[in-house]
Amino acid sequence: MKRVRNRRVIIKRPFACLNCKKITFETECPECKSPTSEEWKGMIIILNPEKSTVAKLEEVGLKHYGKYAIVVK
Ligand SMILES: [Zn+2]
Repeated sequence: MKRVRNRRVIIKRPFACLNCKKITFETECPECKSPTSEEWKGMIIILNPEKSTVAKLEEVGLKHYGKYAIVVK
């Protein structure tokens, strides 16, 4: 695949919190004030934490709605 070099629109990659894995554009997590990382993979979007079976998984441990990364390095 050829890389487009002269694109004017730069899509900034969001960060993911190292602690709660929330995806944010800030360098500090708005939820838990932990540092964020650019090195993350996957995304879970929680719309309704009470009804979501994904949110009930203990290893995910999500309590708030929003976008979360699956793996944060
Ligand atoms: Zn956090």
